Amino acid sequence: MDYLEGLNPPQREAVVTMDGPMMIIAGAGSGKTRVLTYKIAHLIANGVEPFNILSLTFTNKASREMKERIVDAVGDDAKNLWMGTFHSVFARILRFEAEKIGYQSNFTIYDSEDAKSVIKGVVKDFRLDDKLYKPSVVLSRISSAKNNLISWRAYEQNNDLRLEDEASGRAKIAEIYKEYAIRCFRANAMDFDDLLFNTSVLFQQHLDVLNKYQSKFKYVLIDEFQDTNVTQYFITRKLAARNRNICVVGDDAQSIYAFRGANIQNILNFKTDYPELKVIKLEQNYRSTQTIVEAANSVIAHNKNQLEKNTFTQNAIGERIEVFRTPTDLEEARGVAQSIQQAMIKDHIPASDIAILYRTNSQSRALEEALVKLSIKAQIFGGLSFYQRKEIKDMIAYLKFVTNPKDEEAFKRIINYPKRGIGPTTVNNLFVKAAENKMGIWDIVANVRKFFGGRVATQVENFANMIKVFQMQSEQKNAFETASFIAKNSGILRELYDDKTPEGKNRYDNLQELLNGIQGFTDDPEKEDKSLTTYLEEISLITTQDKEDVSDAITLMTIHMSKGLEFDYVYLVGMEENLFPSQMMLETREDLEEERRLFYVAITRAKQRLYMSYALQRYRFGKTIMCDPSRFIDEIAPQYISMRRSSISEDLGPGSTPGFSNFRSLRQQPSNFIRKAVKPKDDRPFHPSNTDNLTIGQTVRHTKFGDGKVEKISDEGLDRRAIINFEEVGKKTLILTFAKLMIL
Ligand code: ATP
Ligand code: MG
Repeated sequence: MDYLEGLNPPQREAVVTMDGPMMIIAGAGSGKTRVLTYKIAHLIANGVEPFNILSLTFTNKASREMKERIVDAVGDDAKNLWMGTFHSVFARILRFEAEKIGYQSNFTIYDSEDAKSVIKGVVKDFRLDDKLYKPSVVLSRISSAKNNLISWRAYEQNNDLRLEDEASGRAKIAEIYKEYAIRCFRANAMDFDDLLFNTSVLFQQHLDVLNKYQSKFKYVLIDEFQDTNVTQYFITRKLAARNRNICVVGDDAQSIYAFRGANIQNILNFKTDYPELKVIKLEQNYRSTQTIVEAANSVIAHNKNQLEKNTFTQNAIGERIEVFRTPTDLEEARGVAQSIQQAMIKDHIPASDIAILYRTNSQSRALEEALVKLSIKAQIFGGLSFYQRKEIKDMIAYLKFVTNPKDEEAFKRIINYPKRGIGPTTVNNLFVKAAENKMGIWDIVANVRKFFGGRVATQVENFANMIKVFQMQSEQKNAFETASFIAKNSGILRELYDDKTPEGKNRYDNLQELLNGIQGFTDDPEKEDKSLTTYLEEISLITTQDKEDVSDAITLMTIHMSKGLEFDYVYLVGMEENLFPSQMMLETREDLEEERRLFYVAITRAKQRLYMSYALQRYRFGKTIMCDPSRFIDEIAPQYISMRRSSISEDLGPGSTPGFSNFRSLRQQPSNFIRKAVKPKDDRPFHPSNTDNLTIGQTVRHTKFGDGKVEKISDEGLDRRAIINFEEVGKKTLILTFAKLMIL
């Protein structure tokens, strides 16, 4: 069969082994995702029904691309695969089963802004200090509880958590968690973490439901397994418990979401949970040059906590990693832009094969501006997504409220937008009345005459009648017809149309774009259900990673978002202490190791060329600060990098930055900075040699310790060790089975 030809022997073995638990923990670029894709194709080609296969990926975009490949290999049948992110797949299951756990199937999905707004309300009602109980801080605490399977009841009773909260001065988190959960439930709303947490509750409490999905999902496959959290792991283990056909692929060296509750422990548990596990090793990297692969290996070797594995490549040696320093962050941006321009013109690299990666979203602005000046089209992932813009959220709040009139966050957005004379006091009174009567907000609003009189009642009643008309529309019409009707009759369209400022014009266009998008949804012949509820679910789960690719633009994104992707040229900017590694990740060894794994992810995105840069001064937090180069630069074995600085612009002063390729090599321009670029005696990229016949007197190279002479060899077999006298660090005893040495 065609697809089996593009696989090496272990990859092929992984693909053709259909049944039983399997785990592939292997380095970046070794074809894990490719194996997963072909394995699904293979299952289908061998008679497994696509709807019996569940495949979980990191982004919706990744799953779309996988699906396309599978369709190419085995045909249209593959469209019925259950494929997507954990969130999207479990949202879909919860839609079917919501009533079992007390929700209605039209539940709303709260994004983090909605969630924070609910928390803000709770903090206010509890009369707590909102500087201490910042919504984002409280939410992340609640979120990590949910990702670790801890309900608000369990949280209340958990001593460790209580002590932690007391120590941080936030003793009331447990109470906020409880009230937050109650309010979300009352609003028939789930936040992102609830989509996972409630699925786990569903499977725990309803064995009949669990049974159903266990027999449905005969095969479960998970990509980026290292970043699954406890709750996700719990769910998938339950699902796979009957058939035990579960295949996970990942790389412990790329685990970068510990802060979100992702847990490397899952990799270790997997072996205990499935003693009959088949483990497959993939060691050949097909993505990057030898230099990049070896540089990445030399970096990750600094981490203590990691599983032993090898990665090599047969690709070309490639160019060294170029490290640039510039006087300021603006010049860094300019230098990067110019270097990209040259890559496109001189090296003929298409824009879509070039990426700039950074540690934090705030770094993108200077880069964007520099690229615009050179007319280089850029696509920025992250930041505010289309669906988070105010005018879009307002319109969507209407759609959400019409489908789920319990949604209090949506209600607050639209009750007086466009203005209809219903002020905050009235809104507050409505909520108070709802609380007194133990009713939802819509129960009060829809029957306002029973509770209030006068002018207020008339205005609220008008609003309620309008919503009722919208509800009737949505029951009879498809999503697009309903949405256009609402846009016109709510007054939103008029409001934006009348605003003739450039921003107003922009907002109007955005609203039109939203409507076009809804039309696209209802016109799509592949969508069976064209209702508003289904549409809303789809867009609630769109993440900023999921943008459609613009073909002639370069990519700008954070390193976190770049996971799983690859580009010919990668520019890694802001290689400075306190930025990368981030200031917040310097406290413990674990944090620093996580940050180093992030560095490993960044390096391994590059196929052909990798550039790194840092500035001596950077504008951050409203002022200019001095920066030191990142310690990570030092951690790359020196033979893989070449150091440069923008000497021309430093000589001529700011404003005259040439492209990086014009920078003079540091080696021609000695300075104290050169110490990092010790020129190795031998330029060959690092290749571990077979040390079976290593003899005394030979010179060897070690990625961390540098070059040294073998002085003594002792013991046999697995214990065979050598004492090596390294030029720089002195004598070390190394166990030869583990030590990677290159004989010079
Ligand atoms: P990451 O850890 O970064 O997610 P990965 O292990 O998932 O990486 P893939 O993205 O599947 O790696 O593969 C990396 C690149 O190597 C892709 O371009 C893929 O098509 C290619 N590749 C993988 N295996 C082979 C092979 N046997 N022959 C040719 N190309 C391959
Ligand atoms: Mg992958």
